[in-house]
Amino acid sequence: MDAKRAVLVVEDDEAIRFGVVDALEAEGIATTEAKDGIEGSSLAVRGEFDLVLLDLGLPKKDGMEVLREIRAARPKLPVIVLTARGQEEDRVRGLKLGADDYVVKPFSAKELLARIEAVLRRSCERPLDLDRVRFGGVTIDFARAEVRHKGGERFELSEREAELLRFLIKNAGRVVSREELLQDVWRVDPRGVETRTIDMHVVRLREKLRDDSDQPRFVRTVRGRGYMFAERLDEHA
Ligand code: CA
Repeated sequence: MDAKRAVLVVEDDEAIRFGVVDALEAEGIATTEAKDGIEGSSLAVRGEFDLVLLDLGLPKKDGMEVLREIRAARPKLPVIVLTARGQEEDRVRGLKLGADDYVVKPFSAKELLARIEAVLRRSCERPLDLDRVRFGGVTIDFARAEVRHKGGERFELSEREAELLRFLIKNAGRVVSREELLQDVWRVDPRGVETRTIDMHVVRLREKLRDDSDQPRFVRTVRGRGYMFAERLDEHA
């Protein structure tokens, strides 16, 4: 994980807060602590943070209210909600209110750090959004969700196909697991979810890219691990 990240930890439970702060600081992440909703909200809105960890059950101001205020003032600031086990409704409400992800208590430092890393990776990709890329005789126009072939053939991409392709291209040269795709493209919890839907989308994507499904050039299958976009992008798209 990159150094010099700054995370705001809003949590009233001292033991959890200390544990989180220790885990983050051990990774070289700068932390600021808030013990209640009022402090948390004002720090989040004013401070220069890369991410906020937000407990929902907070004194003085409810975590949902804090989340609402953060979203109103700082729409792009990543927020991970900390929820108690058995509070599925909170998770759904949190995600609806614009939380980027959630972690269920009790969580391990490892799990928390993985979530933070995934959310930060996603958020720092946002400004680099590609509108159009070209590779191997194919042009992808993301604004129109369209694949154009050299010979003039065109295919429309579904929103999910476009998002999947964009994610694979952004991670070109790296194997992306199905779990990662479920989390970052489908935005669902990868635990216990059928991953075949991803494979079906890849099949359709390959058809539109005219990628040979037996020996794909662009979207390769890496057995037991996932998929990898393996083609170099042309410089001038
Ligand atoms: Ca609490």
